[in-house]
Amino acid sequence: MSPQLLDDKVEPIYQEVLRRNPGEVEFHQAVREVLESLGPVLVKHPEYKERKIIERICEPERQIIFRVPWQDDKGQVQINRGFRVEFNSALGPYKGGLRFHPSVYLGIIKFLGFEQIFKNSLTGMPIGGGKGGSDFDPKGRSDDEIMRFCQSFMTELYRHIGEHTDVPAGDIGVGGREIGYMFGQYKRITNRYEAGVLTGKGLHYGGSLVRTEATGYGATFFVHEMLKAKGQSFDGKICTVSGSGNVAIYTIEKIRELGGKCVACSDSNGVIYHEKGLDLDLIKQLKEVERRRIKDYVDYHKDAKYINNGNIWEIPCQVAMPSATQNEINGKDAQTLVKNGCIAVGEGANMPTTPEGVKVFLEAKIAYGPGKAANAGGVATSALEMQQNACRDSWTFDYTEKKLEEIMINIHSLCYEIADEYGCPGNYVVGANIGGFIKVANAMVAHGLI
Ligand code: NDP
Repeated sequence: MSPQLLDDKVEPIYQEVLRRNPGEVEFHQAVREVLESLGPVLVKHPEYKERKIIERICEPERQIIFRVPWQDDKGQVQINRGFRVEFNSALGPYKGGLRFHPSVYLGIIKFLGFEQIFKNSLTGMPIGGGKGGSDFDPKGRSDDEIMRFCQSFMTELYRHIGEHTDVPAGDIGVGGREIGYMFGQYKRITNRYEAGVLTGKGLHYGGSLVRTEATGYGATFFVHEMLKAKGQSFDGKICTVSGSGNVAIYTIEKIRELGGKCVACSDSNGVIYHEKGLDLDLIKQLKEVERRRIKDYVDYHKDAKYINNGNIWEIPCQVAMPSATQNEINGKDAQTLVKNGCIAVGEGANMPTTPEGVKVFLEAKIAYGPGKAANAGGVATSALEMQQNACRDSWTFDYTEKKLEEIMINIHSLCYEIADEYGCPGNYVVGANIGGFIKVANAMVAHGLI
C-alpha cells in the first residue's frame, strides 16, 4: 500500500528532512505523518510558509548526546549512550520522558520529541516538546545497578535541565524507581530541592496523585469520547491492550471501570489471552511488585492461554489499545482488526501503528485516536504535577483525575472540530496534527526569528 502523497508545498520540506537526518527512519515517519496534514494549513496561513515555520519545527532547538559510564555488580565497566533532544520551547519549557531501552538511538528520540511538541500543545498546558533516554537495558539488572546507571546518567543531564528549562519524566524502562534515583542525584549535585525539575516523582517527595495512572486512564477517556461521538460506549465491549507496563495496566483498569472487558495483554515475548477477562490485581502483582514476565500469569489461571511470540491483534476485539511500542500494528494487523469487528483504536503508545495500518483504519472509518492526542493524558498530568510543585500544594486523587478527564474531553473536542473545519469529519489524525501545530506556529510567529 503506497503512503499518501504529500502536498507540493510540504514535499520539499520532507525531502530536506530526509537529507539532513539520514538513517533516522522513525523520525522520518513521524515527520511525514504530520506533514501529510499540513498542506491546507499553509493555504489558510501564508505567514507560516513565509517564516518557514514547518522547516524550523522539524529542526530540534538543541540535541545533546553523552557518554554514560557505570560499573555493574561484577565490577565490570559498562558504557552506554545518553540523549536529550530539546525540540521546541515555543509554548513552555521542554517536556517529555526518558526512555531506557536497547533499541534507543537518536532517530527514536527525535521521533518521540517531534511528536511531543504537538501532543503537549494539544493539552492546552504551557509546555514545549523534548525527549531523552539511553540504550541502557534495565532488564535483569539489580536495583543497585539501576541506581548507579541513573546516577551516572544524571551526572551529565543535570546541567541541561531545570524547572524553567527542561523537565524530563518517565517512558519505557523509566518508572518511579528510576525517577527517584535521578531526582536524588540532581538534588545532590545542584544542592537545590527543585521539585519541578522532574515529573513522575514518588508521592512522598513532590509527586502527583494520578500521574502513575494518567496515560492509561487518559487514553481510555479519549476512546470513551470517540465511542460517544459514534453513539456507543465501553459497556460490554471486548478489548485488547498490548504491553503490560505502566500504560497498559492503567488502560485495563479504566476500561474495566467504564464497563469494558479486557481479554488480552502482552509483553515482548508473548501474549496472554483470558476469555473471561484479565485478572488485573495479578498483573499488577507480577509486573509492578515482583517485576516478572507476563507468561507467569498462566501459573495462576489455568483457563488462560499464553501464546509464545503471539500476535495480540489476531484476537477478535471491538476496541484495541496498543500500549507497548512504535510500529506494533502493521497494515496486515490493521486489516485483521477491522475484519474481526474492531470499531475503535486508541493509541496509548507513541506511533504504534505503521502508515499502512493508519491508512486501513481511516479508510474503514473506524474511530482511530492517534497517540499524540490519545496518550496526552500522561504529560498533561505531569504538567499538573508541575503546577502543584510550583505552589507547594498537593491535590486529591478525585480532583486530579477530574482535571485529567476534562483535559482529555477538550483534546477530543479540539481534534473533532478541527477535522470538521478542514473537511475531514471523524479524522482524528488531521484534527490532532493541525490542532497541535497551529498553537505552536502562532507562538513561533510571535517570538520572531529565533
Ligand atoms: P513500560 O516500560 O512500563 O512498558 C512497556 C511495555 O511494552 C512492556 O510490557 C514491554 O514488554 C512492552 N514492549 C516494549 N518494547 C517492546 C517491543 N519492542 N516489542 C514488544 N513489546 C514491547 O512503558 P510504558 O508503559 O510507560 O510505555 C508504553 C508506551 O506508551 C511507549 O510507546 C511510550 O512511549 C508510551 N507512552 C508512555 C507514557 C507514560 O506516561 N509512561 C506517556 C505517553 C506515551 P517487555 O517488558 O517485554 O519489554
